[in-house]
Amino acid sequence: MAKKEKIIDFNSGWDLAPAPESTSHIRLKKKYDLYIGGKWVKPSSGKYFDTINPATEEKIAEVAEADAKDIDKAVKAAKKAYDEVWSKLSGKERGKYIYRIARIMQERARELAVIESIDGGKPIRESRDIDVPLAANHFFYYAGWADKLEYAFPNRKVKPYGVAGQITPWNFPLLMVAWKIAPALACGNTVVLKPAETTPLTAIKLAEICEQAGLPAGVVNIVTGAGSTGAEIVNHKNVDKVAFTGSTGVGKIIQRAIAGTGKKATLELGGKAANIIFEDAPLDQAVEGVINGIFFNQGHVCCAGSRLFIQESVYDKVMRKLKDRMESLVVGDPLDKNTDIGAINSKEQLNTINKYLKIGKEEGADIYQPSCNIPKKGYWCKPTLFYNLAQSSKITQEEIFGPVLAIQTFRTVSEVIAKANNTPYGLSAGVWTDKGSKIFNMTSQMRAGVVWANTYNKFDPASPFGGYKESGFGREGGLHGLSAYLKFD
Ligand code: NAD
Repeated sequence: MAKKEKIIDFNSGWDLAPAPESTSHIRLKKKYDLYIGGKWVKPSSGKYFDTINPATEEKIAEVAEADAKDIDKAVKAAKKAYDEVWSKLSGKERGKYIYRIARIMQERARELAVIESIDGGKPIRESRDIDVPLAANHFFYYAGWADKLEYAFPNRKVKPYGVAGQITPWNFPLLMVAWKIAPALACGNTVVLKPAETTPLTAIKLAEICEQAGLPAGVVNIVTGAGSTGAEIVNHKNVDKVAFTGSTGVGKIIQRAIAGTGKKATLELGGKAANIIFEDAPLDQAVEGVINGIFFNQGHVCCAGSRLFIQESVYDKVMRKLKDRMESLVVGDPLDKNTDIGAINSKEQLNTINKYLKIGKEEGADIYQPSCNIPKKGYWCKPTLFYNLAQSSKITQEEIFGPVLAIQTFRTVSEVIAKANNTPYGLSAGVWTDKGSKIFNMTSQMRAGVVWANTYNKFDPASPFGGYKESGFGREGGLHGLSAYLKFD
């Protein structure tokens, strides 16, 4: 008699024993001031705001809210440090400081990972294995370039801008700070950086690390606050270069604000990436790539593969595999090592996602969510598929920035290229196929800054990242990332 095949019942869920990451080793204060000129200073307004844990809705700490006076102080400190110290140091000496920051980040990696997960809601597996190591790698990579700028740009004379004003979002708090600070310092600029208001803690920890590394006072200044604080940085007359990562809406405001001022800018903005599965693709691998593409970091990813295009001939098969795989996703405590999908970063972001879930239903699309439970307290969203959607649907067109995937079908290569490019954005894309020639054809015709082939969401400090169209301009990472912080004669 043939042996009875064991059938996995995905619908009964997974009964995994809890595997919580320890938090006993982290040190957090109740209140954090501004890090300006190498000192911790109180905000001139005396105002502080709460940063909360989105998985529990509990307050973690109070953080200073910087106003125009504080920003002026921070820019003055950065200018002084540039004029008197940093611009006079050799590239080799600058490199040593940057290496030291990277090494201390590695030493304090567990602490940084836990704080990142508590403050932002992302699964500890991601902050531990991706955010923090990649952030340290960015410092290592750019430390290596600090004394080799003349080799990076042969026969060109390069000079730093001076003071770089940098503003970062909440989705990869420490990593985005590393993308900004490491190349700026390597090129000889000094920095005033404002992290996002919902996730300021790892940037504050990085300020502590700069102190620990003995970085000269004023070379890195970390100022906390909301959008108005960011606007003060953008508009300050002594900020020579603005580096912004965030939404396209705010990117447009910044571009308008600096028009005609002579300030240089890089804008890393939103996205609505196409992830495309051809019938000849290794389908299981492609489904894993789709899961990673949209559910990594709760879908709070600028380059998330949030539009899935499936070739019609394999549509049913891919949908079945995708739904089965989603049943196995663990949604819950970010500090549990089993967790695949953590908490939504803030109540505001959850409201935005819920607004889109409502729109999708009203537009008449089909919706699928797995049967997982979600915790009662905190901000949570089940991983969601929308299918049978129109190309003009809001779910297909607009960036949701959550674990929500818009699925469409296609028959031919030219059809899917037209559909994939039919978006105001142009940050990233993914192609799944067995045919190398098809990959080259697709990558050359898609208007996206990064195109992954048979993989998704892979990052490396040596590889430039950035967008076209409303996804912004300028590149971070690699040599391109260096040139964003240099003037060329
Ligand atoms: P956001 O634009 O609301 O905020 C980003 C940062 O800008 C925050 O620090 C915020 O305080 C600040 N800010 C807000 N208004 C400002 C103003 N008028 N002047 C100056 N600063 C201001 O974006 P978010 O919601 O924090 O982040 C999500 C967005 O970021 C998404 O659209 C995502 O796609 C994008 N993003 C892009 C990349 C990329 O590399 N292209 C990477 C990560 C996130």
